[in-house]
Amino acid sequence: MSLKLIISDLDGTILETEDYHRRAYNELFKEIGLAVTWSRQDYMDRLKIMGGGKLKEVFSWLDRSEKEYSSFKQEMYQRKTRLYIDLITADLSLGNLTLRPGVERLFNEIQKENVPLAIGTACEKKAAFEVLESALGSIFLTSLKTLCGGDDTPHKKPDPAIYLLVAEQCGVDPKDCLVLEDTNHGMKAALNAGMKCVVAPSEYAMEHDFTGASLCLKDFETPHYLTLKKVSALFA
Ligand SMILES: [Mg+2]
Repeated sequence: MSLKLIISDLDGTILETEDYHRRAYNELFKEIGLAVTWSRQDYMDRLKIMGGGKLKEVFSWLDRSEKEYSSFKQEMYQRKTRLYIDLITADLSLGNLTLRPGVERLFNEIQKENVPLAIGTACEKKAAFEVLESALGSIFLTSLKTLCGGDDTPHKKPDPAIYLLVAEQCGVDPKDCLVLEDTNHGMKAALNAGMKCVVAPSEYAMEHDFTGASLCLKDFETPHYLTLKKVSALFA
């Protein structure tokens, strides 16, 4: 067993983006004429129910036939994703949103030492590419071993499918992979895949249980730097 691949989650791990989902929903509500605004608490309550259900709830507010749900869901999901990307890329360019502490330094170190780095995210693949390009640049994107998104597998975290798919595409045994995560369900996806996991909880996941993580840090910078050496030592 040795470290052969590092896989990072995107939302909450690289950037504090969870609240942009909430803001994108609120923008969407405005666009479709709904006088609803989800507060942080409203959104947090909905996050506790895994596997979506948010658009189903929105649909239930409308006086529409059940037959229309499938096309409604598809259309709203696409629009909400667009709003989410636009809000994030606008804030990145204005400097209102930055990478989480230590991410850039750690990724640079990983790549300098030629350890393969990949992304496994529930975010739609196209959206993940746009957000990462905006946050870390196109050279970073081309240096990735692979990127698997939510549309690559029907099963969401904590199901291990996304991380197993990343490992398979990279030709690496899951036991030789380390995952960087920010939530309990993300960590469980990694552990269920037979991988090690280092967690840096995001703002919406501070209260989560991280039993089973190899390390649980405030972020990748404080109080102790997460270095490649420390990550490799987890496999010793
Ligand atoms: Mg996450």
